[in-house]
Amino acid sequence: MVPGVSAGDEFAALDNLPDPVILLGARRAVVFANRAAVDLLQASYRERDLAQSFRHPLVLEIADAVLGGLPERSAEIDLLLPVPRFLLARAVALPGEGPVRAMLTFRDMTDSRQVEQIREEFVANVSHELRSPISAIVGFIETLRGPAREDSAARDRFLGIMAEEAQRMARLIDDLLSLSRVEATEHVRPREPVDVAAILGAVRDLLARRAADRKMEIRLELEENLASIPGNRDELSEVFHNLIDNAIKYGRAETPVRVVAQAVERIPHLGVAGLAISVENHGDGIEAEHIPRLTERFYRVDKGRSRKLGGTGLGLAIVKHIVSHHRGRLAIESAVGTGARFTVYLPGRS
Ligand code: ADP
Repeated sequence: MVPGVSAGDEFAALDNLPDPVILLGARRAVVFANRAAVDLLQASYRERDLAQSFRHPLVLEIADAVLGGLPERSAEIDLLLPVPRFLLARAVALPGEGPVRAMLTFRDMTDSRQVEQIREEFVANVSHELRSPISAIVGFIETLRGPAREDSAARDRFLGIMAEEAQRMARLIDDLLSLSRVEATEHVRPREPVDVAAILGAVRDLLARRAADRKMEIRLELEENLASIPGNRDELSEVFHNLIDNAIKYGRAETPVRVVAQAVERIPHLGVAGLAISVENHGDGIEAEHIPRLTERFYRVDKGRSRKLGGTGLGLAIVKHIVSHHRGRLAIESAVGTGARFTVYLPGRS
């Protein structure tokens, strides 16, 4: 039995509310605390001052304010125990003759605050990513207008760099648009039948030149008669484009990139039948500690290297969203010094 809470209470119906509710009487005494409030306070000493069960100064302050005559007060509070939480506490005066003078309610805002923090971080990252190419372009414009005005060799070189920086911004904006498009549709699973083998062939053709520039070859090893799966053709093209492009970027020159597609009876962790498509490259690989974070937006193992190779840091975030849009799975394996393998599992028709 929780201290101070007796069964058959006249306010017991409030026990069914998911949010904590505390009713206060004169001198801040706890008249009733519902079950959620008892969990929150970890103890609720009925008839005693609220301060004996809940010592948070802001909560006591808003309680005092409404008991002192204000109609309503609220406060945002951080609780560290038993788990860190962020709550909106609200006190309302309940004027009248009865024993209850005020009501305190608490709403758990932890999740929405986390969403807000992620959004703020994202905006800060995007601004930062756009600022550096813009500063570079502005800097070169000034140089071309001033000291390098008559220097045609410098002009050509600077224009080349400016074009690259402008392309980098364009790529970043394309990736941001892709990401928001996928996020917007993520809750509805795509249902059109798609031919993954055809998609892989088209992506290979598109990237063959880039691979050849690094003396690499994209080898497709497709099981015969792969069944079509429900999906979105453009999105899946983007997945394999990003994965094969990464394999070319981060793979060792003069080594092959292997793309293997086969049917599987049970997708690990999902347990349903579907396809497994893996993209494998030789190279430095990825240290284990980075692997779980690779699909975070703007996460790169080596920022400088990714930038130099034209990366935006969004490719794998897009891959992850598209794969989850298809209710599939992405698995990343790597042996440092040997290479990396990215496997996309896509459920078949159910
Ligand atoms: P980027 O635009 O930087 O390539 P991605 O989201 O596609 O962004 O990838 C995130 C990071 O994951 C890269 O910066 C790189 O550090 C790492 N990475 C991705 N693919 C590979 C790979 N095949 N081999 C080694 N590292 C990789």
